[in-house]
Amino acid sequence: MRGLAKTSRSQGGMELIERNRPEPKPDEALIEVDYAGLCGSDAGIYEFESAFERMTMPTVIGHEYSGRVVEVGDAVTKFLVGDRVVERPIRGCGDCYQCEIGESNVCQNSVITGVDHDGAYEPYIAVPEDALHPVPDGVEQQHAAMVEPTSIATRAVIQNSRVRAGTRVLVEGPGPIGLLTAQVARAQGGEVVVSGVGQDAEYRLPLAEELGFETLNIADDDLNAAREELTDGIGYDVVFDTTGHPSGLPSAVDEVRKGGQIVLIGQTGETTMPYSPLVRSEIDLQCSYASKYEDFENALRLINTGDVDAETFIDDRFSLLDADEAFETFVGGGTCKPVFDVSVLRD
Ligand SMILES: [Zn+2]
Ligand SMILES: [Zn+2]
Repeated sequence: MRGLAKTSRSQGGMELIERNRPEPKPDEALIEVDYAGLCGSDAGIYEFESAFERMTMPTVIGHEYSGRVVEVGDAVTKFLVGDRVVERPIRGCGDCYQCEIGESNVCQNSVITGVDHDGAYEPYIAVPEDALHPVPDGVEQQHAAMVEPTSIATRAVIQNSRVRAGTRVLVEGPGPIGLLTAQVARAQGGEVVVSGVGQDAEYRLPLAEELGFETLNIADDDLNAAREELTDGIGYDVVFDTTGHPSGLPSAVDEVRKGGQIVLIGQTGETTMPYSPLVRSEIDLQCSYASKYEDFENALRLINTGDVDAETFIDDRFSLLDADEAFETFVGGGTCKPVFDVSVLRD
């Protein structure tokens, strides 16, 4: 069997390498991986951004996946062979102050599957049972591969935002996290508009429209006129910045209404802007990072109900046998959520 690993400290630098089936420890289940998604952070590993310099090479990447339990360690009590599962790949240590008070998403020593240890772009992975969630019968196995990114959105919207029925929402950035955030915000009753830039016009903004959202292309559309029309000139109650671009926060400040809320999800690096207008408008600046157990459970339910439309959202055109094509297309904005069939790596 083979796995797709980051093998060198450079842009690209990924190869299919020979792998052995891991042995589960007593508290672990061995998972046969069926489907795995490509995420913005996987693209960050591909580009070898500074956040991933801590990685040892080779490391098999991939952290958004669905699979089936094929073997359990002696101490496993909650899962049986045959159970369909997803993994919570960002995990707290259980010992630090944040873990003790229930804030495991901001654990001081957290580890991430597919970054700090081998991930799911390979046929088998051994996972502690505490990190697994059962997949409900109504959720297809391919759709379950997008539970992890959906959990980032359920956390941002349900736990960290003020979105309620009737709330006027702008989601900046039609990437995977943006379009999931938009769907979760709509499920909460929000009236959601999605904005993107020039390169999003090819694939991501049309996808947003297919998902039923009003869209704005900031390269072409007059944002002031759109705000005037869509919010009666008041501004959006809640703006989510999922752009990961330094312009995301300043433009959120332009779009949010006085007394409104900006939720930062994308990691934008450095940006310089005047902060006094935020104070004078009493803008609530809220961050949202990673996800916890409850966010996974909410994500599974919203995929099960169809509030998050996995069928429309998933792009299954790509193969792990030619992963560079998927990564290059993703980086160029020509896809949003590629999901790979991992079974091609079994022989
Ligand atoms: Zn992810
Ligand atoms: Zn911890």
